Amino acid sequence: VSARLLDGRELATRLRRELRGRLEALVGAGEDSESEDWEPDTPALAILTDADVPAAVLYAASLERAARAVGVPVRMLDGRDEPAAAIRSLNVDPQVAGIVVAQPFADAVAGRRLVEAIDPAKDVDGATPTNAGRLARGEPAFVPATALAVIAILEAYGVEVAGRRAVIVGRSAVVGRPVASLLLARDATVVVCHRATRNLARETRRAEILVAAAGVPGLVRPEMVNRSAVVIDCGITATPEGIAGDVDFAGVAPVVRAITPVPGGIGPVTPMMVLRQVIEASESGHRS
Ligand code: ADP
Repeated sequence: VSARLLDGRELATRLRRELRGRLEALVGAGEDSESEDWEPDTPALAILTDADVPAAVLYAASLERAARAVGVPVRMLDGRDEPAAAIRSLNVDPQVAGIVVAQPFADAVAGRRLVEAIDPAKDVDGATPTNAGRLARGEPAFVPATALAVIAILEAYGVEVAGRRAVIVGRSAVVGRPVASLLLARDATVVVCHRATRNLARETRRAEILVAAAGVPGLVRPEMVNRSAVVIDCGITATPEGIAGDVDFAGVAPVVRAITPVPGGIGPVTPMMVLRQVIEASESGHRS
């Protein structure tokens, strides 16, 4: 293996420490305040899940673990129980800085309606149409955490983005599209591939930064990359052998410049991005 390994676990550990420090500073600042009505509580993260959907429950649990490690209190809510009313009350609860509706919901339409009910100022996983619109327009926005994790890894490992050709495989609302917007905002030349792309390998071979977000294990094979590519694998598909990425790691790692493993790449960084946005939501005084 000649590629540099872009280690997400190591970065997550660093981020955890950094976020804990920011949180302490934030809460400490409140304690020093002269104001009569300062809010003593640490900003909390509310997570709503459909308890009937194991994947959503697992995601919620991993987010909760990460939050506790940073020091962010978590409120878990069961989406089967008056969820719309729950969102409305979380929206106006001053102790709740962030709200995440863990997807998927058994009833996808219901899940989407709940997301749309989140106050955009508390939308710490960038799931609302308001934040998606802001991001697409290049305006400040809360952004889906997986997309932010891609940027965090590129930055942490000093990968130049400006002027580079970035190719993204996948155009989902949670990964492909927001990654495209973030890379565009950082002056990359961006190509977005999807199911109807005619010759995927021809596109991916030209990538200096290749982001795989198709949810298809092993989709990116060694003949589809070039030697100077930095490969970021956002795939997380559960298989009988464990979690599988979109990249044939054993084949691709020896022939590229750098690559994220799965597991241990984007995965551990993602919850840290939610928590960073929880802290940002409370720092910017959006708590209403
Ligand atoms: P995720 O949430 O991981 O982004 P989705 O299933 O929502 O996954 O979206 C998958 C995306 O990947 C879609 O945009 C789809 O067009 C793209 N995709 C899936 N399979 C392929 C493929 N074989 N080649 C190119 N793009 C693909």
